Amino acid sequence: MKQVAIVGYGEIARKEHEPAINDSDAFQLACTVSIDQGHAELPNFKTITDAINSGIEIDLFALCVPPGIRISLAREAVAAGKSVLLEKPPAVNEDELDELRLLAERNDVSVFTAWHSKYALMVPTAKALLADKAIQSIEIVWKESVDVWHPGQEWIWKNGGYGVFDSGSNAFSILTELLDSDISFVSGMLKIESIHEMPSQAKIEGDVAGVDFIADLDWRWNEKEVWELRFKCENNDVLLLSDGGTKLFFNGDEIISEITDYISEYSEIYRKMDKLLLSGESEIDSRPMKICLDALSLSVKTFIQPCLDKDECHPIQLLDSRRCELGEGLFWHPMRKQLFWFDILSKKLLSNKDDKEIEWCFDCHISAAGWIDQNRLLLASDRGLLEFDIETTATKVLVEVESDRMETRSNDGRTDRVGGFWFSTMGKHAESALGTLYRYYKGHVLEVYTGITIPNTICFSPDGSVAYFSDTSKQLIWKQKLCTDTGEPEGDREVWLDFSGTDFYPDGGDVDKEGNVWIAFWGLGRIEVYNSQGQKIRQIGYPASNVSCPLLANGRLYAVSALQCLSEKQRADEVYSGMTFEMLLNSDFLEVPRVLL
Ligand code: NAP
Repeated sequence: MKQVAIVGYGEIARKEHEPAINDSDAFQLACTVSIDQGHAELPNFKTITDAINSGIEIDLFALCVPPGIRISLAREAVAAGKSVLLEKPPAVNEDELDELRLLAERNDVSVFTAWHSKYALMVPTAKALLADKAIQSIEIVWKESVDVWHPGQEWIWKNGGYGVFDSGSNAFSILTELLDSDISFVSGMLKIESIHEMPSQAKIEGDVAGVDFIADLDWRWNEKEVWELRFKCENNDVLLLSDGGTKLFFNGDEIISEITDYISEYSEIYRKMDKLLLSGESEIDSRPMKICLDALSLSVKTFIQPCLDKDECHPIQLLDSRRCELGEGLFWHPMRKQLFWFDILSKKLLSNKDDKEIEWCFDCHISAAGWIDQNRLLLASDRGLLEFDIETTATKVLVEVESDRMETRSNDGRTDRVGGFWFSTMGKHAESALGTLYRYYKGHVLEVYTGITIPNTICFSPDGSVAYFSDTSKQLIWKQKLCTDTGEPEGDREVWLDFSGTDFYPDGGDVDKEGNVWIAFWGLGRIEVYNSQGQKIRQIGYPASNVSCPLLANGRLYAVSALQCLSEKQRADEVYSGMTFEMLLNSDFLEVPRVLL
């Protein structure tokens, strides 16, 4: 009997591997390698090396962990002269699988990529039937509920977790088995729930053995599972492999298998593993994995709201893929119908019009804008307020503010309901209490509040009677009463929302027609909506931790994000961080008036 160590004692290890090993005449379960909770009656080790060093006899490590960590564990076992069985999908890139192949050859051990669906009952019969058919097209439909099949498994939604391709790869493994061919990617559309990194739905077109296929994969399917491959052949013959390869129909008639000693997919896997160990060979099939990786990297991606309620799903789209170090100050010019924003740390003003990326570089930090007329913007900068001509790029200082203070720069800003421009300053390194909130109106600058560390969330109620603003570092948002005629502050500010002691750091904000305040929370990857009484009424997740500023304009919710404060690893993992997003909203928005000079 060959001794097996199961690595990662989770769902598939307990439900399929352990019973298949127990049913097998060739294998016996010797131990588990589990960080969390291993087998109750057998020895358990924290690492593969601990298991090997224990002296227990082990011939095979069955790696039942998530794909992202599989190959590093496989290397550890193979380098120590042990054979490995890799759950599907075997890896997260082809190179690491190729390297493992070479290592296995050098160490004279077997590696087996166990694509379980290839061993479904009716796959061999389907393969035999298709062998002499001219296939004209292939349609794959693979739909199931992730909540039923993977409850609570967070890793599947993260990079390397494959998302809906975790189950979709089963269909592709059957396809490669049936036609013994590579699968080529042609085009694809992915839907990614905005709080996740991996898609929940995918539509893929491709080519296998010279035949076109389409694949419709859905992980948010709340009806009976559909796991089908439909082959349309010459003479209108249709072969349908359904129920994940366990049922087969030819022109509507069910075909019954003639295999008599079949137990399960996993029993077949261990039978195959036994043969490989006896012959000393490996079987490494990366083809089903490759089509999934190609689809993940090459498809068009749409972000949708997390699917809490199916009817509420609005897609969040990527508007602009330039990655801002500190994206802030989203601004809509109503006359030009043009969106602008800033990368404060790169000293850039950015815009995107008709899918054309535009940018202007400055020699000072700029952070917020109002509009003066068709071509001129008022910009908050570290020298004060600038007048900037979009067409000629002519720039002049309208009024100096803190221009002699090298240690500060401008931050959040917005135009109020009567044409006053509110803007703020802060320490270049967010030093405590260096910042000030100002209002510019008809040639005069008023210092509204000082002693603020990171002034943010500047926005105004629809009737102009209230200004909201925050100190991100204090986690407080204040409201300030205003004169509706002049926009002048009246009386003292009062705390409106207090997030101190929580993970909530308010950044940019905007107000909708109903007076609800839309607030971006730095570090949380989220915009939340609060009604004027301060009750939370909605939240929208983004695939970027530092979503920094929302803007309601042009029938859309726009949002920018920032790379600042992310580690090197987060910058690499969070591929959308720093980018700019849009989401269609079916409502009208308040137009921002011109700044009154
Ligand atoms: P799971 O229930 O989450 O189990 C995975 C196990 O891996 C965990 O229980 C944990 O076990 C270990 N692990 C080590 N590092 C981990 C990490 N960073 N995050 C999460 N777990 C970690 O997942 P599963 O459903 O068994 O899936 C495992 C593999 O089998 C996947 O590649 C999946 O595609 C494949 N598979 C799953 C199914 C299914 O229906 N569930 C079917 C076929 C294939 P310890 O705490 O014991 O270390």
